[in-house]
Amino acid sequence: MTTPELPGVDELVRSPARRTLCIVVNREARVCVRAPADMPLPAIRRFVAERQPWIAQKKAAIRRQLSRIVIRSFTEGENFLFKGQLYPLHFSAAAAAPISFDRAFIIHERYRDKAREMLTGWYEIKAEQLIGERVKLYAEAFGLDYLALRIGDTRSQWGSCSAEGKLSFSWRLIMCPTRIIDYVVAHELAHRRYMNHSAAFWAQVAKMRPDYREQQQWLKDNAPLLRF
Ligand SMILES: [Zn+2]
Repeated sequence: MTTPELPGVDELVRSPARRTLCIVVNREARVCVRAPADMPLPAIRRFVAERQPWIAQKKAAIRRQLSRIVIRSFTEGENFLFKGQLYPLHFSAAAAAPISFDRAFIIHERYRDKAREMLTGWYEIKAEQLIGERVKLYAEAFGLDYLALRIGDTRSQWGSCSAEGKLSFSWRLIMCPTRIIDYVVAHELAHRRYMNHSAAFWAQVAKMRPDYREQQQWLKDNAPLLRF
């Protein structure tokens, strides 16, 4: 769907408070143009036309990402990530526990219909253990403290740090290699010294994770794989 007056644009939002034009390509690869309330249409059209290569590039990148989002069925033999590696899911009537891990995720036959919940619960427990360890390690090594640690499901964020020092992390991180978890841990702990993303903050992160840019890129590239 495109706006009739602006080819290639899905949505045009005019607002009196706005002074400049801006183009946003959202997560669904939809193109939205924000414009001042009284800006004439030809000027907006020109602006959009000039930025066509950028829009096309951005849309292609988002479509590539979207195509990588894996639709999960939670069926026998399907592969799931754990600490950066893929392991198959198996169902067994002879399993001793409702869910266990031995180079494969083994779920008791009885819980076949609840495989998603079982696996999510297992990920949460493992995330709590590993992230807990890594936070402690980095906090001690770099003389940073924190008030509390919470593992939740913050889909849009891998981690956060509140003003009072409460750290939160997404359980989805347990699907990533440990070096990626370490970057997110270091990032949130660095906020205990700098509650912003200033140069000083990034210098603190670099002290803790010298190759943090690689880990940022990994998260950007692989985020679709961590959603289900
Ligand atoms: Zn941050």
